[in-house]
Amino acid sequence: MAIAKVEPLTTARALRGPFDYRLPERMEGVGVGTVLRVPFGRRRVLGVVVEIAERSELPPERLAEPLEALEAGVPAELVRLGLWTAREYCSTPSRGLQLVLPPGTGSGGRRVGPRLERRVALTGAGRDALAGGARLGSRQRAVLEALAEANGGGDLPARQLAVASGSDSATLRRLESRGLVELRQERALRRPRVAAVGDAPGAIRFTAEQEDAAATIVGAIGRGEERELLVHGVTGSGKTEVYLRGAEAALARDRGAIVLVPEIALTPQTLARFRERFGDVVALLHSALREGERYDEWERLRSGAARLCVGPRSAVFAPVSELGLIVIDEEHDPSYKQEGDPRYDARHVARRRAAEAGAVLIAGSATPRPESWLELPRLELSRRVDGRELPEVEVLDMRGDDRRGGPLHPATRKALEALRAEGGKGILLLNRRGWAPHLSCRSCGHTWGCPRCDVSLVVHRSTERLTCHHCGHAEPVPDSCPECGSVTLARHGAGTERLESLLSGLLDPLPVFRLDSDSAGRGGGHPEILARFQDAEAGVLLGTQMVAKGHDFSDVVLSVVLDADAALRFPDFRAEERAFALIAQLAGRSGRGEAGGRVLVQTLAPDAPAIEAAARHDAPGFLAGELERRRALRYPPFAHLVRVELAAGEAADADRVAGGLRSVLEGALPEGSELLGPAPRVRLRGRHRRQLLLKTGDRGATVAAVRDAVEAAARGRALRGAALSVDVDPQ
Ligand code: ADP
Ligand code: ZN
Ligand code: ZN
Repeated sequence: MAIAKVEPLTTARALRGPFDYRLPERMEGVGVGTVLRVPFGRRRVLGVVVEIAERSELPPERLAEPLEALEAGVPAELVRLGLWTAREYCSTPSRGLQLVLPPGTGSGGRRVGPRLERRVALTGAGRDALAGGARLGSRQRAVLEALAEANGGGDLPARQLAVASGSDSATLRRLESRGLVELRQERALRRPRVAAVGDAPGAIRFTAEQEDAAATIVGAIGRGEERELLVHGVTGSGKTEVYLRGAEAALARDRGAIVLVPEIALTPQTLARFRERFGDVVALLHSALREGERYDEWERLRSGAARLCVGPRSAVFAPVSELGLIVIDEEHDPSYKQEGDPRYDARHVARRRAAEAGAVLIAGSATPRPESWLELPRLELSRRVDGRELPEVEVLDMRGDDRRGGPLHPATRKALEALRAEGGKGILLLNRRGWAPHLSCRSCGHTWGCPRCDVSLVVHRSTERLTCHHCGHAEPVPDSCPECGSVTLARHGAGTERLESLLSGLLDPLPVFRLDSDSAGRGGGHPEILARFQDAEAGVLLGTQMVAKGHDFSDVVLSVVLDADAALRFPDFRAEERAFALIAQLAGRSGRGEAGGRVLVQTLAPDAPAIEAAARHDAPGFLAGELERRRALRYPPFAHLVRVELAAGEAADADRVAGGLRSVLEGALPEGSELLGPAPRVRLRGRHRRQLLLKTGDRGATVAAVRDAVEAAARGRALRGAALSVDVDPQ
């Protein structure tokens, strides 16, 4: 008797699966990865088969049978990867499996499936009838003529034929009964539309550096080696061309490939280049596709019709078989980390997947992470393919009393005036939305904070509201102080909204385009704003960090970072790394065209190592210093971090649960681990938060200890009133 071990797709933490089900003979095809509907307690739920066994520890009469098997199953290797991810990130098997399921399969059941379409084909008899002047009604004739003219041999969807010929299904049935057409039900694929982005490349002759990098990669793929490599190359050094060469080598050996990009907004340009090279074997997977499109793209990969997948972090779970290559483009980007449970890091999952598949892994960036710099062999692309030097970066000191210039340094102001006079393009980065980040009363000092979060409310002028950027709380901008009645209120600092207004005045008549999550909602989305900037003769693109990511404009002559130390002020050991990457990335995007480029960095900390190194375009120098600092402080990559966060409506509950968890963990951690906290964190959405931080050399044992503690707490009632989340390798 065959037993299916099934992991039910439920959210409960305390469940210990998998559970055994007896497979009846009619379910013979069921294997690891099949999605089943099963009776579970008094409910019916979906579950995934994680193992097929000969026998169960339970007597057969106590085993239930599955109710049905759903059509699309998950490849066995992805079942293993999903379960591994769950364990690695201290989540549940169900949550891990959700990552690898066919799109639309939820715990509640399936919402999408394949779409069938009725197609009509012309038969030989039909062709003769048309040519030989057989007796045909006018609509019948119109149908046959439309089919004869259809390209690819006289076959059309019935829906399209109805429009072309005015036929209805009675006409079609009559033609079918005379043997003149054939009606078929066929699978119709829903394909995402791809807009062409960027210029079509001309014929390319690789530089010597590209040849060397490609030879290493292609060689490893050719020998079927399992290999991890870092491609370190400035923007415009031809990294993507090297990835394309690698993908070509993989496909030539009948192996598949996955190409990860940091965000959905960046998929079109990468997809367009891979499609142009490889055509239909390229599939696209991301959460913003329509559900039907996603399902069909997933199916195309699963069936092998498509062999290469482009997408953001979730595409690391794409059903590509015989994987030969994974590319992680812009590998430094924090968006590779998932925010919700399981808080997986696609870069870490990719390494595991590549190792399991015997595939080559390439991480690429101009500003690699310290982890990758230390651990991966490097392939260097040290210069731009157009032979241009990197632009000069000027650091502008914003210390000093004279702030009458507002948020712009006099040198920045001058550069913008020159831009206006000469008519060029510029990019300005200010990582703060809204008009002003704080409002206060000039008489009594009262400040406006969010009632549910411990943060200040941000003034937004277009909506005339004070808004919380964490929870969305909004209230009208007040006329007077509720404490003292004074009407002199001060708006401190500047966000993108205020800067837009300032620049519009300064640059008039040049257009100013604002790109942040407010303007994107208002103005038809990022691609539209970026396209308008691209098409403009001259003008300025102003925005939050979105402007520094991946977009390539050849004609930008001026880039400005307005508050370079904003990233440095974050209380986080990655603050230096982030600040460096942000500045270096923006600088790398400047001056790629004829006109050359200039980069200005405004800062209150001109001597900070991250800023100095970014100004020199010196990634190796920065990384060497940063790795020393991390080694001394015992931060990753020299240790692993695990963060446990507790949130509760009442501060006392948060304290009680955090304290309880601490004492459980104290005895359970492997030797040499440190346990810090519980430390209070900023209250958000009315929830009091506490954090425990673990530093350890033994990641596996530490995660296991945390998992046991969390599961025990969930099974008992210790968690009452509190929510708990575990973040392994927090970003
Ligand atoms: P990166 O990914 O490092 O930013 P790309 O591969 O996108 O660099 O290359 C930048 C541009 O230069 C692209 O338009 C690409 O087609 C072109 N390019 C790449 N390599 C060469 C080369 N060896 N000769 C000429 N053009 C090249
Ligand atoms: Zn007041
Ligand atoms: Zn709030």
